[in-house]
Amino acid sequence: MIIVIKKNTPEEIVETIKETLTANGMSYNLLMGVKYTLIPVVGDFTTSDVDRFRALPGVANIIKISKPYYLVTKDMKEKTVVDIGDGIKIGEGFSLISGPCSVESKDSIDTTASFLSGLGVKILRGGTYKLRTSPYSFQGLGKKGLKILRETADRYKMKCVSEIVDGSDLGFFEEYVDIIQVGARNMMNFALLKSLSKSKKPILLKRSLSAKVDDFLSSAEYLVSGGNDNVILCERGIQSFDDETRSSVNIASIPIIKDLCHLPLIFDPSHAIGIAKYVPSAALAGVILGVDGLMIETHYNPANALSDGYQSLNFEAFEQMYGKIMKLNAFLNEES
Ligand code: PEP
Ligand code: MN
Repeated sequence: MIIVIKKNTPEEIVETIKETLTANGMSYNLLMGVKYTLIPVVGDFTTSDVDRFRALPGVANIIKISKPYYLVTKDMKEKTVVDIGDGIKIGEGFSLISGPCSVESKDSIDTTASFLSGLGVKILRGGTYKLRTSPYSFQGLGKKGLKILRETADRYKMKCVSEIVDGSDLGFFEEYVDIIQVGARNMMNFALLKSLSKSKKPILLKRSLSAKVDDFLSSAEYLVSGGNDNVILCERGIQSFDDETRSSVNIASIPIIKDLCHLPLIFDPSHAIGIAKYVPSAALAGVILGVDGLMIETHYNPANALSDGYQSLNFEAFEQMYGKIMKLNAFLNEES
């Protein structure tokens, strides 16, 4: 970090700053500029809140050089491939995760899984504990939904993912799903992240609606630093002032996150846009920007869906988009 000293700061105050840095095991230099004095400081800042030095008299600003996370960065590792089992990997090749927003019934998820697996989709999604804005909206089938999801995935030799909302459910999530999802609303639930960091199951971590890239990667750091390096990131749009779409589709973050971080990154255009007819083109844009996979909500009859029907693709739209994704991937692989 670099400490910027206020103009005309008396020498004894600068001495106090230097003594404080030494007492904290940090090395420094002193650069006298025309207007400001700069103190470049080196040390291990990973476990130390350097912002507290702003409280020292004479400090005008602190410029941080290092990020608040390091295990998830490219400095540590070039690439992580998350092995889901039976040859299914995320971060190697292209992954497609699809299914309804919620597991609604045995029959409806079976219809969707049968369609998706017929196309070659290997990972089935389905929410079972839903975090809905209204307490009167469908809340999910809970544990019963998880069992249905597991049985359906097994029937079609698929893997499955569902969202956990409470750390005390971890035991049966570990039993029933192959990937545990942390939803946007829980990305900053650090107690939940800490318990999931002790699990051996891969975690799909969605970006919070209000998280900066640094916040997103810091949450991933919670999982990895706690011992779980099977982490898959999921960009799903952020909230902005624009209410034309459900969230703002900030796909520029895709190459930025891929540059900073070695974890696989998938993109969820369904929750980002919230309108089914715009989902396929955004999905293709995500592919061009370099995602490792997509998560798409699909429903056999979106108008009847118990949650997120308006953004769910029907089978025809999904199949059309699927064909385009395959062609685009073939083209991109040819190019590189
Ligand atoms: C979901 O994937 O079903 C979901 C609720 O997404 P998000 O947490 O991104 O809103
Ligand atoms: Mn949904």
